[in-house]
Parts: sequence; C-alpha cells; structure tokens
Amino acid sequence: MTTVVIGAGHAGLAASRLLTERSIDHIVLERGEVANSWRRERWDSLRLLTPNWQTRLPGSKYDGPDPDGYMTMGELIAFLSQFASLARVPVRASTNVTSVTRVDEGYHVATNNGDIRCRSLVVASGACNLPSVPSIRSSIPTTIEQFTPFEYRKPDSLPGGGVLVVGASATGIQLAAEIHHSGRPVTLSVGEHVRLPRTYRGRDVLWWMDVSGVWNQRFDEIDDLTRARKLPSPQLVGTPDRTTLDLNALNAIGVELVGRLAGVRDGRALFSGGLRNMFSLADLKMERLLDTFDEWARVNARDTDVNTPERFEPTRVPPSSRLQIDLRSGEIRSVVWATGFRPDYRWLHVPVVDEKGHLRHEGGVVESPGLYALGLPVLRRRKSSFIHGIEDDAREVIEHLSEFLR
Ligand SMILES: Cc1cc2nc3c(=O)[nH]c(=O)nc-3n(C[C@H](O)[C@H](O)[C@H](O)COP(=O)(O)OP(=O)(O)OC[C@H]3O[C@@H](n4cnc5c(N)ncnc54)[C@H](O)[C@@H]3O)c2cc1C
Repeated sequence: MTTVVIGAGHAGLAASRLLTERSIDHIVLERGEVANSWRRERWDSLRLLTPNWQTRLPGSKYDGPDPDGYMTMGELIAFLSQFASLARVPVRASTNVTSVTRVDEGYHVATNNGDIRCRSLVVASGACNLPSVPSIRSSIPTTIEQFTPFEYRKPDSLPGGGVLVVGASATGIQLAAEIHHSGRPVTLSVGEHVRLPRTYRGRDVLWWMDVSGVWNQRFDEIDDLTRARKLPSPQLVGTPDRTTLDLNALNAIGVELVGRLAGVRDGRALFSGGLRNMFSLADLKMERLLDTFDEWARVNARDTDVNTPERFEPTRVPPSSRLQIDLRSGEIRSVVWATGFRPDYRWLHVPVVDEKGHLRHEGGVVESPGLYALGLPVLRRRKSSFIHGIEDDAREVIEHLSEFLR
C-alpha cells in the first residue's frame, strides 16, 4: 500500500479525496465507522457552532434550505457519510490501529484487522480523542459523581442537585446552560476564555472571521504559535434563534460564576479570585477583534452591506464571587469537566510526540519521512481544526506527500 490514512473523520475523508485526485493508492483505517467521534463522543443536543454554509469539504458543500442554521449531530453524520460514499473513500471500518513503527522504506501499521506496510502515512486521528481533565479530579470527594463531556449525554445523565461545571469555553457554557434548564443549580468555574457574540452587525460572527481573513492567518505568520494552538474554543453555541451564550447570558438565567478551580483541599473546592481581570481581558480581546472587523468593512467598502458597528456590555462581575465551596455539604452532587480535549498517540511508536503528548510537525509535515498530520489546531491556518478549514490544509499537505513519493 502506498499511503495509509488513520481516521475517517472529516480530515481523513478530505485527505482521501485529494489522494484519489492524484491517483495515490491508499486506505483509510477507522476504529469505528465514518464520523465516529460525532457518533460516539458528543452529547445528544450538540449542534455545530459553525453555520451550515461553512460545512464544506473538497468538492462538496452544504446545499440545503438553511445555510445560516447549525447542524445537529444526525445531520452532520449524514453529511460526512454521504461525502465518504460520493468520494468513494476506501474506508476499512472497525479497524483499530494499535501500533505504527518506522521500517526501512516506510511504516509498519499494526491493527486488530491485520498489518499493513506503507510508504507514507497521514495521521488524521483527531485532536480531541480524550477529555483533558486536571489531576485535581482525584481529590474530589467520592460522594460526588464526575463526568467528562464523553460521558455526559443529557442532563438526566447526572444525579439531581447542584452541578459544578469546570471550564467556560464552548463545551462548558453549552453544558452549563442545558443543565441549568433541567432545574439543577449550576456553578460555572471560569478560567481563560474567548468571548464572541453570535452575530455582529447582522452577520454571523464566523462570517466576519472568514471574510476579514482572521481565520485564514497562516501558522508561519503567527507570533506565538504555541499559544495560538492552545487557545480555548470560543464561547459560541449553534441554536435556531442564533442566541449569544456568553457569561452575561448565563449569569442572567441564574448560573453562578466562580473563578478558576485552583485546587481541592479537605473536601473544599478552591477558586481563584480575579474574575474582574479575567473578564476584562476577554472583553478587551473581543473588542479588538470587532475593531478588526470594522476596519475590514471600512477598507473594503462593505459598510453599507452590514448593520452599523455594535459594542457589547462588558461582562458583569458578580458583586461577590465565592472563593470556595464545601464539596461535602451536599450542595454539589456532580462535577462536569469541560476542561478541553487532547489527542491520543499511544499507538504511535515513532519518536515524533513531545513530552506534552503533541505531535512535532511543521505545518502538518511530521519529523519523520513520509509522515503527515491533518486536523490539528492551527496546523497551517487558524481555521485548521474546523471542518471548513481542512481543504486548504489538506491540499498543501497532500501535495507535499505526493512530492515525497516522487
Ligand atoms: C465538542 C466539539 C464540538 C465541535 N464543534 C465544531 C463545530 O461546530 N464546527 C467545526 O468546524 N468543528 C468543530 N469541532 C472541531 C472538529 O471539527 C472536530 O473535533 C472534528 O471531529 C475533527 O475532525 P477530525 O477528522 O480531525 O477528527 P475526528 O472527527 O476525531 O476523526 C478522527 C477519527 O480517527 C479515528 N481514530 C482515532 N484513533 C484511531 C486509531 N488508533 N485507529 C483507527 N482509528 C482511529 C476516530 O475513531 C475518528 O473517527 C468540535 C470539536 C468538539 C470536540
């Protein structure tokens, strides 16, 4: 086999389509089935936070009646499955890659379904294979049930009573709102976050990210790439009524905001102070971004196509935020860790993974001949890990792979 692609999420499917275009023979190995992460690892109510018009892959884009809507999991799974069949992606499903090692002229790929030798390999196994949970979790009293976003399906997954949601990025804010609406009191522990309005000057904020070129910014033009790659997901939710779900909205429905979870001592959860600083930093960054959008509209004479500039109320700081909660008091019955995700390369026995568990690569070209990656945060552009971001990256990475084979 010339090329093996690991993973049949959107990244692996896009890679396959472009390999086919170049007549490079290949196979896509998938431990589950096409769109496995969306089928098995997401909660029931999740919708994409990217609008439908942005759901596009090489040679295929959303063409339904609601371009400004946000896909449900069922709709996205159908979109990806249809893409796989139209593009005739050679997926070998139920095939778990258990080990990849370097051999003379390429790689030895061991799976539960037989072994394969290949000259080149595309790692498209995802950036979010495991929930990233801080070690504090082991200090939480055993009377409290703990959930990661992989275990949480719907509010009824949780026991009744108070819930501490840790993390206020896209996952945390969405789960906090949903759990609150189920009647359970929710406390949300807020760390560094990226605040965005759902719509700005009458357009989806992600339209602005697209047209203004922010999302297209290349990895080799970003000053602090390590930081850009670690940036949390923006506080956005995709709902039919295009609501903004920021901390003000959560506060207004009765979600209690506390600082970053700093530790658990003697059964007490300890939260950092300094909410005011953290909020104003997020507000400031949002305003700078909105300034960039305004400037783009002005320079490109688009001011008349969009509504007038808006500015949003600063994030309201609660008059007093609690610095600790006694986890033995019965107030909190469960903790939901919305503290991010990380990749899992335990099967990759090539020395290309750093001490933090991240792949060492330069724009998707991994430090081992013929080894490539796709779908990682800011791989080649700010949009790299989003569905609409894969095509540009995949074209360049597959071109490099093709040169390598030549
Ligand atoms: C909660 C959440 C919400 C998101 N919302 C959006 C959104 O609204 N819009 C957007 O554009 N992006 C969104 N993303 C980001 C991104 O689009 C998804 O993470 C997407 O799943 C990434 O696609 P991928 O193909 O890179 O990886 P995945 O979809 O994770 O695909 C990787 C595949 O590899 C398989 N695999 C992994 N290891 C092995 C192995 N050892 N052997 C065989 N197969 C293996 C997995 O089963 C999986 O099918 C979201 C991410 C998360 C976590």
